[in-house]
Amino acid sequence: MTARVTKAWKSMAGQTDRAVKQTSAGWRSGALMLLAGLLLCAEPAMAHHATGGETPTTFLDGFLSGLAHPVIGLDHFAFVVAVGLLSAKQGWGPLFPVCFLLAALGGTSLHLNLVDLPAVEIAISLSVLIIGLLLWSKRSLPLIGAIALGIIAGLFHGYAYGESIIGATPAPLAAYLLGFTVMQGAIALGAGWLGDRLLHHTTGRAMTLAIPGLAIAGLGLVFLLQAI
Ligand SMILES: [Zn+2]
Repeated sequence: MTARVTKAWKSMAGQTDRAVKQTSAGWRSGALMLLAGLLLCAEPAMAHHATGGETPTTFLDGFLSGLAHPVIGLDHFAFVVAVGLLSAKQGWGPLFPVCFLLAALGGTSLHLNLVDLPAVEIAISLSVLIIGLLLWSKRSLPLIGAIALGIIAGLFHGYAYGESIIGATPAPLAAYLLGFTVMQGAIALGAGWLGDRLLHHTTGRAMTLAIPGLAIAGLGLVFLLQAI
């Protein structure tokens, strides 16, 4: 009986292993196809208004616009995904994503207080390129360095988010801040969870996140070339 259970268990484990290896190969080709698609439809950073360029006037409009911005804006989306993946790769947990989220709120408030940040699109593109390379690299990174990057990048991404809400009344403004923070948090934590699964349930540990890292760096480079 025990022998039979052990045998069944081993065969199940073998099947799971194979399934995981196939998933890993699928993930790699999926990532490459996604990159090719993204490169074809890469858009400049300022065209991220969910409400067609109009300032949101209601709480719901503000919230939906906030939810949409980090997804429509591929440069933001790529960066936030990388924040989650890098955190998973380095085993940092949610601290690094949370620093980025708070800095993005700070960046929006800079914009709303009419403080000018220079070269916003270039800085955002560079942040995507750098975090992609960090994800790709086999070297490990000190948490403090990553937090510094997260804060600087967060200020610029948040500053760009501010563009869509400047001039709004307090209710849609608060809803917008909540919306993009919720969406960025969901993307970063989702990517962190996925990265953790990939790292601990596949073989070829360093390779697994190197490919999305390279894809994100490539995207950052495309945005940078568009921005300069
Ligand atoms: Zn944007």
